[in-house]
Amino acid sequence: MKKRIIFCVDDEKIVLNALKSELKNSFGDQYIIETAEHAAEALETIDELLASGYEIPIIISDYAMPGIKGDEFLELSHKKNPQILNILLTGQATIEGVTNSINNANLFRYIPKPWENHDLTLTIEQAIKSYDQELTLQRQNKELRELSQSLEKKVEQRTQELQNMNLLLLENQQEISLKNEELENHRNNLEKLIEIRTHELNIAKQKAEESDQLKSAFMANISHEIRTPMNGIIGFVELLKAPDTDESLKAEAMEIIEKCSFQLMNIITDIVEISKLDSKQIKPVLSGCMIHKLQANLHAIFLRNMANKNDLKFIKTGFDKELTCITDEVKLNQILTNLITNAIKNTPSGTIELGYSLRKNTDILFYVRDTGIGIPKEFHELIFERFRQVDTKLNREKGGTGLGLAISKAYVELLGGTMWVESNPNEGSTFFFTIPYKPINQEPLVVKNGFSCHDKNFAGLTILVAEDIDTNFKLIDYVLKKEKINVIRAINGEEAVNICRTKTAIDLVLMDMKMPVMDGIEATKKIMEFRHDLPIIAQTAYAFSGDKEKALECGCIDYISKPIKSTELFQLISKHLSPKMATG
Ligand code: ADP
Repeated sequence: MKKRIIFCVDDEKIVLNALKSELKNSFGDQYIIETAEHAAEALETIDELLASGYEIPIIISDYAMPGIKGDEFLELSHKKNPQILNILLTGQATIEGVTNSINNANLFRYIPKPWENHDLTLTIEQAIKSYDQELTLQRQNKELRELSQSLEKKVEQRTQELQNMNLLLLENQQEISLKNEELENHRNNLEKLIEIRTHELNIAKQKAEESDQLKSAFMANISHEIRTPMNGIIGFVELLKAPDTDESLKAEAMEIIEKCSFQLMNIITDIVEISKLDSKQIKPVLSGCMIHKLQANLHAIFLRNMANKNDLKFIKTGFDKELTCITDEVKLNQILTNLITNAIKNTPSGTIELGYSLRKNTDILFYVRDTGIGIPKEFHELIFERFRQVDTKLNREKGGTGLGLAISKAYVELLGGTMWVESNPNEGSTFFFTIPYKPINQEPLVVKNGFSCHDKNFAGLTILVAEDIDTNFKLIDYVLKKEKINVIRAINGEEAVNICRTKTAIDLVLMDMKMPVMDGIEATKKIMEFRHDLPIIAQTAYAFSGDKEKALECGCIDYISKPIKSTELFQLISKHLSPKMATG
């Protein structure tokens, strides 16, 4: 640290030296004693010293100096460096000069010349003490100011933080109340949802119970439906077997057996159809259909069937012009057949009417009207549900599975239409349904199959029948042998493969798909490996659609559904073996 400076100004060199030596005596090396002989030099030197980093606590100046006087010099110096304490030395100072210095130059004291050494030393010590105190005060003041500034800043910061926190709290509060509101809404929604779900579950439960009851009723019904024709078949077969049964009774028995068998087939067809509809396996097969011809055919067929019902008339009405439309003719025929059959069943006497009309060129409206027992209003929708029947005496007598209308309605919807009934008890019923009218420009090509097995000569052909069930085989064996076809039997797929390998004379194979040891699919694949030109016709279980595809995929040339109808069988044999057959 640099030593402090006591700066002395006097125009008299002797006085200046005396002052310097006096101060040296009193303070030794404690301070640097700098001097100047006139004010202007002093001001310049003071500036330089301060700029070089020296500290000047005290200036001692003579009063009476040429040029700038002592009081003026001190005033000028004070303006620049207010911290320096000033002492005026004078022998002839005016009151005005001293007052001026006190007021304008922070005069610490004035000392009359000649000075008292002791007084001077004491004055300087006090001045330095006062200077130091002032410095300390200034520093403390500065520190206090800084402290108060930093405190103010901190308070300001804290206030800002608190305000921010307040804002955040407010926002949080708003968010919480929003969340609360949301929660409340959720709760309300949940309660509503639970209410709705409970209601839905109750309905589902009710429906499940109802459907359970319906299924039990259906099982009872179906077993009755199956038992009735089965009884007929078993009973009349017994009769056929009896040696004393005369020929006319035998003919009647066979007719009844045939009728009962068809009834059984119909029941199975209906059940299979419903399950196919459920699994969406049924797709409409569209082609051109001559509606007027369909109506005429149905009219003719049912008129023939009703020949013995004198109390019942069957008429066709409505649109009398020829009408053609693109639709699924087989399904349309099935729907109308169901409705006419129902009408006949439920009309002990009166009239049944089959008609159709064209509505606004967009749909065809079909109707089957009867003057029968009618249907109570509460059943108008229910009867279209599966297994639903109106409990009537007629129904109990004539039976039925309660599936016909459900299937018909599903077919109508498949074709793009709707179905409904209008009916009053004891007045009769009219079943209506629509299908979209899609006209065609020309009449569709109707390929009539005039095939008859008697046109062809099957004699001499050799057919391998792969069939594990005896009764099934016996029937095929009988039918084929009647046409003088050589029949070889295999009781499983493996045997069929072996026979095909050893007997090259086989012209065709009738392959059952479900057999023990090796099934028909596996056997067909194996035979195809060494006799890929051998026609194999698959016998599939009742027309489940997947079976046919599987059979064709494994190499079968065609398929036939069980129960096998002889005309269809010969049609297929003829289709695939015609070059080998002699014309009859
Ligand atoms: P099913 O005839 O096998 O009983 P359906 O589904 O065809 O089954 O018919 C359901 C029920 O609708 C019938 O049991 C019968 O009660 C009623 N029904 C259908 N058609 C008629 C009709 N034309 N007149 C009176 N009732 C009918």
